[in-house]
Amino acid sequence: MIYLDHAATTRVHPEVVREMLPYFENWYGNPSSGYEFGRESKAMVEQARREIADSLHGKPEEIYFTSGGTEADNWVIFGMAESMREKGRHVITSQIEHHALLRSCQALEERGYEVTYLPVDSRGVVDMEALARSIRPDTILISIMYANNEVGTIQPVREIGMLARERKVYFHSDGVQAYMHEPVDVQRDCIDLFSASGHKFQGPKGVGFLYAREGVPLPSWFHGGGQESRMRAGTENVPGIVGMAKAVSLGRRNMEEERRKLGQMQSFVMKEILRRIPEVRINGSISDRLKGNVHVSFKDVEGQSLLILMDMEEICLSSGSACSTGEEGISHVLQGIGLPEEYARGSVRITMGPENTMEEMAHFLRRLESMVRELRGQG
Ligand SMILES: *Cc1c(COP(=O)(O)O)cnc(C)c1O
Repeated sequence: MIYLDHAATTRVHPEVVREMLPYFENWYGNPSSGYEFGRESKAMVEQARREIADSLHGKPEEIYFTSGGTEADNWVIFGMAESMREKGRHVITSQIEHHALLRSCQALEERGYEVTYLPVDSRGVVDMEALARSIRPDTILISIMYANNEVGTIQPVREIGMLARERKVYFHSDGVQAYMHEPVDVQRDCIDLFSASGHKFQGPKGVGFLYAREGVPLPSWFHGGGQESRMRAGTENVPGIVGMAKAVSLGRRNMEEERRKLGQMQSFVMKEILRRIPEVRINGSISDRLKGNVHVSFKDVEGQSLLILMDMEEICLSSGSACSTGEEGISHVLQGIGLPEEYARGSVRITMGPENTMEEMAHFLRRLESMVRELRGQG
């Protein structure tokens, strides 16, 4: 099998699995228990919190563990809408956010809030002038993703953060695709709230976190026990949290090397696709882009058919975004960047990871070339 869908999820790193296992089998104590056996679990959760806080230049008290990226995004949108409602009911986001963010915003609209969905240019970069113009006295939150999960474009996060701070509006960034792949720094980028998810960087599924800067009026989310500083009740997912923290410590150590390797495979794949296949477009930004992402559209090819042929040869790819597979129509991201329909239908997302090799890329490219020819009836 050749796995080229790392934006959908990743393989848990073997060292992460090894780190997690004792927390199922031996040290299963509840972190809230008063005896030593529980305190061991508690200590590990707090150590994980410190590792993660340090990785993005925040403080441990500013990290809240969640069940993943979707939960963190929902917490931010509904939480901030509730706590800021005296100031106003206007939220700014972009047209190309993940559904976790977009659908939360749509639900807010149904509750009487107003949401501005900023347009993006053909590379998928948010229009900064439109952003500056859209901030109003009743704007309570700007939420713009760090990097896009379909086309891989990285937003000018620091510029957005500085503008938000100058205009005194809280800034959230969905960093699920960027965290542990790009060097994130919430101080440098003036980020007040940041979501991340373990399974997008070789950690386990079902665990993630929300960073919330001290002083941000984030209300508590789940009600019950006193976990997570009374902000998110429920017994901690100790093995998941320990595993995610291990993936963070490995990720920090390997990030530069991994970025270099993925960057090389990425430019090789892009160059070869353009060289071998006519009437093709590479989508997203070329310069400001996640290293492992190649998003490509073939004119007059059905992307879904290409995926089926690839699947028959055990090559895993996505048609843009895993979340929209099976849904009708062109994804909101491809609509947002204004991709013409005859190209948009033939889109595939190739996302590489640290375990992929140049040999796999060469094999994949040979198969891609002949499948596109076949689907175009040029067999
Ligand atoms: C995967 C993803 C999410 C959802 O994270 P889960 O942990 O799977 O809930 C949110 N936002 C972006 C940008 C993603 O890529």
